Amino acid sequence: MDTKMITLSKIEAKRGMEILMKDIPSINEDEILVKVLAASVCGTDVHIYTWDKWAENRIKKIPQTMGHELAGEVVKIGKRVNTLKIGDIVSAETHIVCGVCEFCLTGRAHICINTSVLGVDRDGAFAQYIAIPAVNAWKNDPSIPPEYLSIQEPLGNAVHTVLAQDVIGKTVAIVGVGPIGIMAVDVAKAVGASRVFAIDVNAYRLDLAKKIGADVCLNALDGDIVQRVKDLTDGAGVDVVCEMSGNGIALNQALEYLKLGGHLSILGVPTKKIEIDVTNHIVFKGITIHGITGRKMYETWFQVKGLIQSGKLHLKDIVTHKLHYSEYEKAMSLMESGNCGKIVLMFNQEKSND
Ligand SMILES: [Zn+2]
Ligand SMILES: [Zn+2]
Repeated sequence: MDTKMITLSKIEAKRGMEILMKDIPSINEDEILVKVLAASVCGTDVHIYTWDKWAENRIKKIPQTMGHELAGEVVKIGKRVNTLKIGDIVSAETHIVCGVCEFCLTGRAHICINTSVLGVDRDGAFAQYIAIPAVNAWKNDPSIPPEYLSIQEPLGNAVHTVLAQDVIGKTVAIVGVGPIGIMAVDVAKAVGASRVFAIDVNAYRLDLAKKIGADVCLNALDGDIVQRVKDLTDGAGVDVVCEMSGNGIALNQALEYLKLGGHLSILGVPTKKIEIDVTNHIVFKGITIHGITGRKMYETWFQVKGLIQSGKLHLKDIVTHKLHYSEYEKAMSLMESGNCGKIVLMFNQEKSND
């Protein structure tokens, strides 16, 4: 095996990402080495690429290999690893947790206080190889193409958000139909929501939501969105809102068109504090709010696996772009434009035209 590998790395504390040759990582006794086949692009990668305030405060080590959503082949296993073998096709839970804190010990490892994240706190998946703890590897069905396997981690975010409450037979609004919102539309439909509303300000994304199966697609910039949602629900509002936009105005509108006693799951992360009417929109409406971070480890992963096996998800439509890793600049500008679903970068294969 070669000793060097190609990575897409952050090399300077400013906008950008570059191809950087690095040593193929060595592994410790509890880790595996994965030959990356596909790595999808996440909003987090865009934050790091554009080098916004969040990235500036969060990224401690440069140069750092970016990316965290992957599918690849196990090519080396540590001495103490007995759950995987060479040749297995794996993805990864990107939260590396301690296993011993109060939260890990009570089945809530997704809020572990000692979490470190692939591609954020340590070298990530935009590379030919990545070392990960064996315990974080998720063994895949090798008959599924790697570009679909790589999106299970963000799909897990969508599943965690939608299934935080009962949605069967309920009206569900997905606010912000970027890649994870699109997946949330798909999940809500697959598990039996009665009607799914997709709300966004981007026409491309609303069209994609329609294609995936959203029952109602609304551009929040067209007229009074609160009134329109109420009109479409006999004045009652929707039972469930999944907030994925991180936008304060959208959140306040959602609190207005959420039905009395409804559920609000928030995955979107606003960049600043938001003022909300606690008295009238939370207390007297008797609503329940869920903060969603990461994926339940590993309940969510089993749900993702089951949903993929059910054949009810539209993975082919969700992955709108499959690009060779060298086309990373195109990937980033598409992500910044919002005119895409999930973008997957392919590693360790020839550049093709599909
Ligand atoms: Zn991600
Ligand atoms: Zn922990």
